[in-house]
Amino acid sequence: MPDTPTLRLPADEAGIARAAELLRAGELVAFPTETVYGLGADARNDAAVAGIYEAKGRPSFNPLIVHVPSIEHAKELVEWSGTAENVARAFWPGPLTLVLPIRWDAGLSDRVTAGLDTLAVRLPAAPLARELLTAFGGPLAGPSANRSGRISPTTADHVLSTLDGRIAAVLDGGPCKVGLESTILGLSGRPTLLRPGGISAEQLSEALGHPVMRRQDNAAISAPGQTASHYAPRARMRLNAAEWREGEARLGFGDMECDLNLSPSGDLEEAAANLFAHLHLLDASGAKIIAVAPVPHFGAGVAINDRLSRAAAPR
Ligand code: AMP
Ligand code: MG
Repeated sequence: MPDTPTLRLPADEAGIARAAELLRAGELVAFPTETVYGLGADARNDAAVAGIYEAKGRPSFNPLIVHVPSIEHAKELVEWSGTAENVARAFWPGPLTLVLPIRWDAGLSDRVTAGLDTLAVRLPAAPLARELLTAFGGPLAGPSANRSGRISPTTADHVLSTLDGRIAAVLDGGPCKVGLESTILGLSGRPTLLRPGGISAEQLSEALGHPVMRRQDNAAISAPGQTASHYAPRARMRLNAAEWREGEARLGFGDMECDLNLSPSGDLEEAAANLFAHLHLLDASGAKIIAVAPVPHFGAGVAINDRLSRAAAPR
């Protein structure tokens, strides 16, 4: 692990080339995707992958999502299926992760899957992520680029706020467009939504041609690492606030008086893109409690409420 300050690389050809070179050398490089900043490491390099767990302080039982430069590349890592082909055609590149049986000849570090016989793969849409993956030419393990359990990073500054000096570099591509982690779809058995995200259950059901099963409908399906407390600010959280109380930092939604507003016009996509950045700012204000106005529970609102309830969960 480097004990020198983390390099901030520009989003140009030279920055991408340097990032790819560091990754090939087994270093950790954070990079922007359309969801959040990922902490990249060569998924085939055992020491590099071990470095991710160490830098994040991530429990070793929590498996990583592997980012690939193309669908062809994904097929070299997992047992592809007709269902995988359908949803990949509909949503890749994009904010959807597929969990499929891992191929015996995938050649990845065992730490990536935390010993499971399935692998989570994603083809991201953000141009900079695509360019980096293409320049690197291989699979990148990429969990969110933050200390484990904390608010996810949607800017390079967020990354540096918890990982400066712990990783080699961050490729600075500005704020992430979607702002919430990918939707995770389990495809090793009956298609199951393992984590809500940028792609909604309704969209998935349409592509599948039948309703997707939700994880809570099937307790037998385990999604490792989906711990109750996550995305936690230092402040305590009070959700579905019907009124504001003295001394709280006020996070609004829709037309209302507040300190920061997820979306004054009530647009859920905009709210998703702002969620983590606003939580970072309100937390930095030093408030003891962050109160959050109700967010409608449909479309991107399902993923927003998932993140909010885990930010508010007892730690
Ligand atoms: P993060 O990288 O922080 O966005 O978290 C990735 C999440 O992907 C983990 O918390 C797991 O729940 C999920 N995940 C990764 N690999 C698998 C897998 N093989 N099966 C089920 N869930 C997985
Ligand atoms: Mg994370």
